[in-house]
Amino acid sequence: MITRFAPSLTGFLHMGHVLHMIYVWGLARKLGAQVLCRIEDHDLSRARPEYEIAIFQTLEWLGFFPDLGISGPDEKPSEFRQSDGSEFYQSVLDVLEKRGLVYGCACTRKQIAETQPDGAQELCYSGTCADKELPLEGNTVRFRTLENETIFEDLKLGKQCQIPWLQCGDFSLRDRQGQWTYQFACVCDDIRHGVDLVVRGEDILFSTARQIQLFQTLEKPAPRYFHHPLIVDNTGQKLSKRQRSESISQLRESGISSEEVIGRAAHLGGLISEFFPVSAEEAMGMISLPDNN
Ligand code: GLU
Repeated sequence: MITRFAPSLTGFLHMGHVLHMIYVWGLARKLGAQVLCRIEDHDLSRARPEYEIAIFQTLEWLGFFPDLGISGPDEKPSEFRQSDGSEFYQSVLDVLEKRGLVYGCACTRKQIAETQPDGAQELCYSGTCADKELPLEGNTVRFRTLENETIFEDLKLGKQCQIPWLQCGDFSLRDRQGQWTYQFACVCDDIRHGVDLVVRGEDILFSTARQIQLFQTLEKPAPRYFHHPLIVDNTGQKLSKRQRSESISQLRESGISSEEVIGRAAHLGGLISEFFPVSAEEAMGMISLPDNN
């Protein structure tokens, strides 16, 4: 079994990532899975090399060691870095295009936003360009989302039912600038890397059915999913901007020990009721599967 640690390259790692590491490595330990490391730098406008360097330094300092995947910033190019994955993503897109499952869309974000009902949680595309036969090049590439509901059993949250068609409509696989989207790159990577267990935060739960639709369309088995709780403040809000801005690299420079950082993340994430320092090994032992698994 293979699971993955797949940070986006949009900033430095913070406490939320440390809690995430505890879950990824802890569940891998529990289920006998290997942890694969990949760098999700599909958003080329935000990725910076120093973020990637800091990821490897932080993992090593904390004591979370990947079994597979990219092992350092010097590995260039790497099949475990999304910015090097274009050829593979294109080959998957070609398959979908041949089957008529994607189309080019010329609508701008602003145009789509204007058609949304008040209070919509995310933009839902109504399919304006679905039958226009626009070229894929130079336009947003959209997937013809199925209208049915997708039901899956989350290892942590139990039975989930999502209808991507109502959540987001025909979602995009590549933007008009030619940049691959998270949804598409993530599914392509989980396929090529043989990932069969996805452990990630509850904040990405809403993406799961659309990713399962892509797996099913490509006739690949979808992984099993475990969506873990996030670090929230006492009002129930996600980790605040101020806490997020405190990177692990900065904490390390301030002289705090790796055990204190892990203990703090475990405490903030509700794994221990009172703060005390813990090693990566000890933290991994704190993760368990709900009884029904
Ligand atoms: N790259 C995403 C993040 O850092 C994780 C994506 C995933 O686990 O599917 O939030």
